[in-house]
Amino acid sequence: MEVVAGKGARRCHCRTQEQLTKLLAAARIPPRYERCALSNYHPAAGNSAQLQAFKYAFKLVDEYPAVDRGIVFTGSVGTGKTHLSVAILRGLVEKGINCLFYEFGALMKEIQDSYNPISQASELTVLAPVYEAEVLVLDELGASKPTDWVRDTMMQIINTRYNNKKLTVLTTNYLDVRRNPTDETLEDRIGVRLRSRLYEMCRTVQIEGADYRRSFDES
Ligand code: ADP
Repeated sequence: MEVVAGKGARRCHCRTQEQLTKLLAAARIPPRYERCALSNYHPAAGNSAQLQAFKYAFKLVDEYPAVDRGIVFTGSVGTGKTHLSVAILRGLVEKGINCLFYEFGALMKEIQDSYNPISQASELTVLAPVYEAEVLVLDELGASKPTDWVRDTMMQIINTRYNNKKLTVLTTNYLDVRRNPTDETLEDRIGVRLRSRLYEMCRTVQIEGADYRRSFDES
């Protein structure tokens, strides 16, 4: 912040840029998704689910911090769930919010690795930023084999954030209803308690549509 005579306090542009760069780095958006933004999410023509998903993402960024629920984006692969989640993070980082992205499986592995005696990190060094981030994106919820340990760990993370009133945005390829008898539901993967907690903490937004990556094949 710099003070200009007669004009009061004015935000110094380079300082703001520096803070933004730091917040973006701290958010740990994977390089593959670093260009994802609300401005380059294009709902497919006639796809009202994608348009609706975009609107919810936009609204969350626009209204934050006056937002009391996160989002669970559900839907099949390539429908833009991760893109929209990263776009939310980017939009919030631009508002100066401390955010964090984690792929669910990678987080579980980092926690497990921290139990190794030769590990540099303790469980708490891995978990502290996950607990403390104002907004957390957990990508690919339910992707890891649903052992009791995975379920308990996940419940502990989500409950801690819930108790501290922190917003969480999640993506998952698992739906709430079975389309085929052999399908696993989100509840099958994460357990009934966690699914129930997420209903309370998040709006569920299902994105239908074709795999966006396939459109590159067709062009
Ligand atoms: P999901 O998480 O649903 O599996 P992704 O978000 O990873 O899908 O999307 C796959 C790729 O397609 C990403 O590179 C993403 O940026 C792009 N993509 C998906 N949907 C859209 C869209 N509606 N507009 C622009 N890019 C999209």
